[in-house]
Amino acid sequence: MAIKTKLLIAFTFIIGFFFNASPANSVDEDGVIKIHLSYKIILNPKNLARPNPYSQPGESVTDAMIEEAVAEMNALLASYWRGYRFEVDEILEIGALGGFAPDPGHWFDVDFVEVDKKHELINEMITTLINHPQPYAWRENAINIYINQATSGAKWRIKKFKDVIVMGADSVSAGWLLLHEIGHYFDLRHTHGDLGIALPNQILGQKIPGDDKVDDTINDLANWDRDDIAAYNFTGKYDQLQPRQKKQVDDVAENIMSYHFLKPIKAIPKCLTEGQLDRWADTTLDFYRQQVRDGRTWFVDRQTPGHEGTSTYPFDSVNLAIAAANSNGGDIILLRPGAFNEAVTISKPVTIRATRKGPASIGTSIMLAEISTE
Ligand SMILES: [Zn+2]
Repeated sequence: MAIKTKLLIAFTFIIGFFFNASPANSVDEDGVIKIHLSYKIILNPKNLARPNPYSQPGESVTDAMIEEAVAEMNALLASYWRGYRFEVDEILEIGALGGFAPDPGHWFDVDFVEVDKKHELINEMITTLINHPQPYAWRENAINIYINQATSGAKWRIKKFKDVIVMGADSVSAGWLLLHEIGHYFDLRHTHGDLGIALPNQILGQKIPGDDKVDDTINDLANWDRDDIAAYNFTGKYDQLQPRQKKQVDDVAENIMSYHFLKPIKAIPKCLTEGQLDRWADTTLDFYRQQVRDGRTWFVDRQTPGHEGTSTYPFDSVNLAIAAANSNGGDIILLRPGAFNEAVTISKPVTIRATRKGPASIGTSIMLAEISTE
């Protein structure tokens, strides 16, 4: 049973500070939105052993490697201050001795990245799991992650409204890489454009930056270094840019959805921008994807008012968002920067957050000066 809280708030939020009005026994104790993951480890059809990471000879993929990746992803999500977290529902072993199609073991030794550039094999795998759901344990209410032996890295693919992510044994503990694929799941494109599908000769051949459908990521190409990004988007070299411009270059150079983990930058990907996180939040409302998370984000913005509470059509009042939020708890109200001059009474468990972009004030028309997040 949810305890109802009643409080009047009339104070100012600062960047990164959030107010948690959830009582301890509500549906969501932590004031976060959980995204559910279902891991499936494809066993070696010769001996039913788990796959071996080449980087750790003789050692099989362990549950601890998966937990390491999820902890890394959750630390990244925590740094974005949007209140999303991953939760592992299950780690299953699938596949039978012999591994003859349609058994999942059929895919144990397939490199879905290097030998499946046209995606024919992964499409065939998805068709197979649609026709034989039981051995593949595909879930409607979780993101489905399959681990096999041979895949070089990871890949996301959707076909007939069924999404899969396939990862090789070597990549199981790479949280940032899985977050990249889950970014595609939530409709994020590469910072150099396109929807997560490497086009033929993309890295070498792409000469013009593509559109990633996000406003606050500057133009990018996979083989650019920081000076190339700076020269195309601004004038001058990276070192000569203003701090704000350098941050925009870094946001792309270290972006989870970029290819800059490769040469020449070889970055450790860690950034998602506010625009990318907005797109992510709106995609969680999709008919199929809403089943993999609990709770939702309601956006409030005085500058671009709408009436849906989405990032694109946000409410223009905190009270509208509170009225829309789930009475049983678990939802997040996200205040864009601005002064929301209204008396607010909260009588349901809900979490209110501000964004990294700037402060939000409730109950006053006075706006705090913007504080740098550096
Ligand atoms: Zn990708």
